[in-house]
Amino acid sequence: MKRPYGSRTRRWRCASVDQLCYVPSRWPLRRHTGIAPVKRTYYGRCHCGAVRFEADIDLSLGTYKCNCSICTMNRFWPAIVKPGAFRLLAGESELTEYLFNTRKKRHLFCRHCGVRSFGIGQSLDGTVYGVNVMCLENLEVGELVTAPITYVDGRNDNWQSAPVETRHL
Ligand SMILES: [Zn+2]
Repeated sequence: MKRPYGSRTRRWRCASVDQLCYVPSRWPLRRHTGIAPVKRTYYGRCHCGAVRFEADIDLSLGTYKCNCSICTMNRFWPAIVKPGAFRLLAGESELTEYLFNTRKKRHLFCRHCGVRSFGIGQSLDGTVYGVNVMCLENLEVGELVTAPITYVDGRNDNWQSAPVETRHL
């Protein structure tokens, strides 16, 4: 895998596959957002409520959409946070884990309602949580849609670029 960016590279693991996503630091993370860079605590849950959590997220840093096989099937739309910013409040025993490919990324879903409210992966900086922004209760739609979105071309193992087509993601 090419690593064309130097120390200024922000490195993420894709929300859903075991490949590293190299996001250049020049990415316009705060352009066009109108959102102050502030970390807020959001409360999240699966559809049936068996799984509940809270997460500290700065939406001005953006959310992610990936065109890989499982992200597209689940229409998974995460914000990425470090483990210290994620607290599972209920439902650990209600989660089912799905593993594929290198089997290092934990794809978790509620065994009752099937909703995938978060997943756990590994980045070069350690463990990261991908929090499904559609499962956050105290997040206004207006706030969500004005946050920047980083598209990643996971389907083609091309983590430096956005996919050619993003409208379906
Ligand atoms: Zn559920």
